[in-house]
Amino acid sequence: MAEIRARAVDRINTQPRHTEADAIRLNHMFRGRDTAEILEVVLKEQMLGEVATVSSFGTEAIVLLHLIARFDRSLPVLFLDTGKHFPETLAYRHDVVSLLGLTDVRSLQPEPADIVAQDETGLRWSYDPDGCCAIRKVKPLEHALVEFDAQISGRKAFQSATRAALPRFEVEAGRLKMNPLADWGKDRIEAYFAEFALPRHPLEVQGYPSIGCAPCTSIVKPGEDPRAGRWRGWDKTECGIHNATTPLPDNGANDPAF
Ligand code: SF4
Repeated sequence: MAEIRARAVDRINTQPRHTEADAIRLNHMFRGRDTAEILEVVLKEQMLGEVATVSSFGTEAIVLLHLIARFDRSLPVLFLDTGKHFPETLAYRHDVVSLLGLTDVRSLQPEPADIVAQDETGLRWSYDPDGCCAIRKVKPLEHALVEFDAQISGRKAFQSATRAALPRFEVEAGRLKMNPLADWGKDRIEAYFAEFALPRHPLEVQGYPSIGCAPCTSIVKPGEDPRAGRWRGWDKTECGIHNATTPLPDNGANDPAF
């Protein structure tokens, strides 16, 4: 494993990675094209290089996983196994993986040394959620992504104000991030669930439209932003794994078709 990672780091450090120009070009190339069609082309023609998807196995995650599985069941699926998930999420992950026949689901866990040094009590989320996410999410994902040129994300523009201008392709730390569901609304998500009879996360019906770690996820009241239950009471809306840099003005990326 260490040898594979070392080779991957060497490859990334010695070869040009994706640039913002690549993201802009892809956004224009696929303008107005259907989501499934884009995924099929990108995956079958390996347009993005080595690709993984990152999944929370939350309420809507199965939609993207199902779309991907239609074209490539062996695509690596990275799951941030923070040690703080609801047991229902872990059970749902097991069921989804089995149902879709995903063959390469990887659990990314925090470094034990980081936990001992920085969160020995396991309560860091209660006084420093950014620091907790850094140990349990950001760092493990950064290590895992070293092997990949691009990742596929399930983020959607409607989920919150902070995601309103989400393009289909963007660049983050020199790596492409594809958001195939960027322009999907709630109605389309619901229609996809119905069309393929996809199973629901068991906590959704209890009032959790967006589900992360158990200590940082609360029930959302009617009319609230779907992500209002995440880190409630904190000035924090993302866990730190989404920091894209692709500029949006004048490149068409603000077009709803993206
Ligand atoms: S979501 Fe909460 S428990 Fe999970 S890693 Fe972030 S701060 Fe820690």
